[in-house]
Amino acid sequence: MTKKQFKAESKQLLDLMINSIYTHREIFLREIISNASDAIDKLHYKSITESDVPVSRDDFRIDVTVDKENGTVTVSDNGIGMTKEDMDSNLGVIAHSGSLDFKKNIEEGKDVDIIGQFGVGFYSSFLVSDKVTVISKAYGQDQAWKWTSEGADGYTIKECERDSYGTDVIMHIREDDGGENYSQYLSEYTLEDLIKKYSDYVRWPIHMQLEEGDMEETGEKNEDGTPKKEWKTHIEDKVVNSMVPIWQRDKSSVSDDDCKAFYKEKFHDYEEPISVIRVNAEGAVSYKAMLFIPKVAPYNFYSREFEPGLQLYSSGVMIMDKCKDLLPDCFRFVRGIVDSPDLSLNISREMLQHDRQLSMIRSNLEKKIKNELERILKDDRETYGEFYKNFGLQLKYAIVADWGAKADLLKDLILFHSMEKDKPITLKEYVEGMKEGQDKIFYATAESAARAKQLPKAEQVRDKGFDIICLTEEVDEFTLRTLRNYDEKEFCDINSNDLDLETEEEKKEAEAKEEESKDLLDFVKDALGDKVESVKLSRNLKTHAVCLSAEGDISFEMEKYFANIPGSPEQGVKAKRVLEINPNHPAFEALKKAFEEDKEKAKAMSQIMLDQALLMAGMPVDDMLGYSENVFKLF
Ligand code: ADP
Repeated sequence: MTKKQFKAESKQLLDLMINSIYTHREIFLREIISNASDAIDKLHYKSITESDVPVSRDDFRIDVTVDKENGTVTVSDNGIGMTKEDMDSNLGVIAHSGSLDFKKNIEEGKDVDIIGQFGVGFYSSFLVSDKVTVISKAYGQDQAWKWTSEGADGYTIKECERDSYGTDVIMHIREDDGGENYSQYLSEYTLEDLIKKYSDYVRWPIHMQLEEGDMEETGEKNEDGTPKKEWKTHIEDKVVNSMVPIWQRDKSSVSDDDCKAFYKEKFHDYEEPISVIRVNAEGAVSYKAMLFIPKVAPYNFYSREFEPGLQLYSSGVMIMDKCKDLLPDCFRFVRGIVDSPDLSLNISREMLQHDRQLSMIRSNLEKKIKNELERILKDDRETYGEFYKNFGLQLKYAIVADWGAKADLLKDLILFHSMEKDKPITLKEYVEGMKEGQDKIFYATAESAARAKQLPKAEQVRDKGFDIICLTEEVDEFTLRTLRNYDEKEFCDINSNDLDLETEEEKKEAEAKEEESKDLLDFVKDALGDKVESVKLSRNLKTHAVCLSAEGDISFEMEKYFANIPGSPEQGVKAKRVLEINPNHPAFEALKKAFEEDKEKAKAMSQIMLDQALLMAGMPVDDMLGYSENVFKLF
């Protein structure tokens, strides 16, 4: 009998696959089982759509058996089976373009790891076998056929016997070779684990003959008269997969608690999620989703190692463990599962072509997650607070990312500490609490809310009855800058030099005073040189003598932030410093007096005022020795 050649492309693919270092060899079982399941689906469909197909749904099964002596693993099904022609055309060519992508990727030296998650259909049997035999009898036919191949050099098909319709894929497992441990696939327990991992939710039962052990009575008695027991084993036919996944079950038959317990087990979290989102979508794309919003962040959440993504299933077969494309990045903390029959195993390998479906699912999930977070924020603030402690930072990063593409979506989910209420509030709540005549959202940046409260200018803003939100994280200021405004209200840094709090009358008065003190202010500026941009009389100070404010786009917090990023082009940027002096403070009077009587003393006072202002702004004083000398000059 002549050996048939694989079609050119298939031959190359097989060559590559057999010889490449392939890190996901274990997916072969999933692929072969998934073919078996498809074959049963086809016959099942036939049995319900045609009248003369007397097969019962309950009889369908897949069997996975091991023959250690001959070194084979066999996957059998009683599905539709294949004719000789089917074998020739289905097993002799590359069945889908996913395989072509796979090939291209190995050739280009790309990461086969990722591609490996999609698998390459029937050919993946060669990842672990040096010989594959397929025995099949098509439903309604009398003759069975045996297809055999030892790899790239071709295959043979000949007549054979098989009792009934269906297919056996017999894989002759390769010898262990260097680092590759193939013989593990001859262990029932390894196979059972692989089935549970990848094929747990295949709709048809997957049977295995597994050794079970128990303490059994031997019939004899121990010295103390109790029946003697011995460990005895027997082989049991077991269904290994659970078949109906929890997310496929009716909402009414699965409680939230069931889902939460499932989450803990599946995603190895010790905490319950704060919420379960279930989606059953039909229409342009049909899918079921079960999403979980965790309470705590995994230890590596804020590092590069963290891999976000949802588990993707297609009719019970796991296609991908962490499908990034399904999950909006702003909600990368969400865990869960999406199962869509529209993304069949084949289709999913051609992910790119079907990107549209994936992105429809993604944007739909984005809305659902946002709505759910908003609901929790509204109905259960305490829980939201706990969630926010872990993931609030992520939400702010997400606002800043991509030039604020998601800013609108997320702006109502972030919280800032309110100075007035002494607890976290939303921007919406801030705006709702704004006083008459207030047209800005005031914020203060500092390393803690307590420090923010001590900022010299906070006093007067609060005296006016205006609340201030505290920005304590590095990303906070960037977040507000990205948002630009909220509900058309501008954000205003209380450290900026003009808060515009006074009435017209007060303004005039201040201007007159400034004019009057011009010589003095020029003197102070001269004394300080380029350490400050300008010196002015403050309109926003109450009990404090001085303060430092920033003029222009760069704030002090940003200066500190950039200083901590080595190599950043902005590393050296400095905020433009403005020294503000409170004209109603005794210190100002003292300065004025010294300016008239003792210029040296006035100079020392100017230096001290700047150093004091720096200290209050939480910034280092450059010259501590000089500072202390200046202080003693006043004695
Ligand atoms: P596919 O992605 O189409 O499943 P495969 O390479 O895995 O690609 O399989 C090629 C084809 O071989 C299948 O589409 C199917 O027609 C046939 N086939 C594979 N396994 C079986 C089986 N157990 N029973 C019947 N037909 C099968």
